[in-house]
Amino acid sequence: MLEIDGVTMAYGDASADPVLEDVNLSVGSGERCMLLGPSGCGKSTLLRAVGGFHAPARGEIRVGGDVVSRPGPDRAFVFQEFDQLFPWKRVLANVAYPLVVNGGKKPQAREKALVHLEMMGLRDAVDKYPHQLSGGMKQRVAIARAMALEPRVLLMDEPFGALDAQTRDRLQEQFRTVTTELGTTVIFVTHSIHEAALIGDSVVVLGGGRPGRVVGRISREHTPAGDRSAVEARLKSMLASAHTAKEDDR
Ligand code: ADP
Ligand code: MG
Repeated sequence: MLEIDGVTMAYGDASADPVLEDVNLSVGSGERCMLLGPSGCGKSTLLRAVGGFHAPARGEIRVGGDVVSRPGPDRAFVFQEFDQLFPWKRVLANVAYPLVVNGGKKPQAREKALVHLEMMGLRDAVDKYPHQLSGGMKQRVAIARAMALEPRVLLMDEPFGALDAQTRDRLQEQFRTVTTELGTTVIFVTHSIHEAALIGDSVVVLGGGRPGRVVGRISREHTPAGDRSAVEARLKSMLASAHTAKEDDR
């Protein structure tokens, strides 16, 4: 569903040091792929490239076989910030609006919005305004809005990073359940080992100084089923090397 093929990302002119170099990644349909790495290693930069907001200096990104060259509703984003909703629209309209903008009919858009809000446990909040919601509820609305678009890839940038621990635990579980049910393909940025092991079908560790590279990867098929602590231990040692080593040096 998603292929990142020899991608180098840089800011500024051609002489600028790249942030990320030669990243290769393949994500299958229905797979939740976590991008894990230390702060500043280029996780958001890579995600924005998949979103079509920032073109690679080298390499190519394909979603469903199509080369990414601009943003589109086939790649929906959820960010960390609580202010990503339209403050002047009620919850239902927040979710339905992008569907209408992308050519949906209003009654069908509201119907679909309702289905996704219900999935996220927000049945009772559909008539509220964002300022009446807790941070956790706002993030659930943002997830429902992104899922309602039925994107080919759902792009998540530390969506639970600003939540309190209890709410975060609950949303991580809920997100896992809903994406499993719908078979959503997900790229999920995190700097939490625990979150990566909990949600990911696969985890790609980025880092290794500047430019950053892929320093390690784990796939669910290659780890004992349900053995999350083993996954966490392996991720921990990969992340330690992410602060220094490059994949080639290992
Ligand atoms: P992460 O999401 O892993 O914390 P980012 O992708 O946000 O990292 O940033 C990676 C690097 O790129 C950092 O060194 C950051 O300072 C730099 N960077 C991010 N955005 C810009 C920008 N708009 N212009 C120049 N440099 C940037
Ligand atoms: Mg980031």
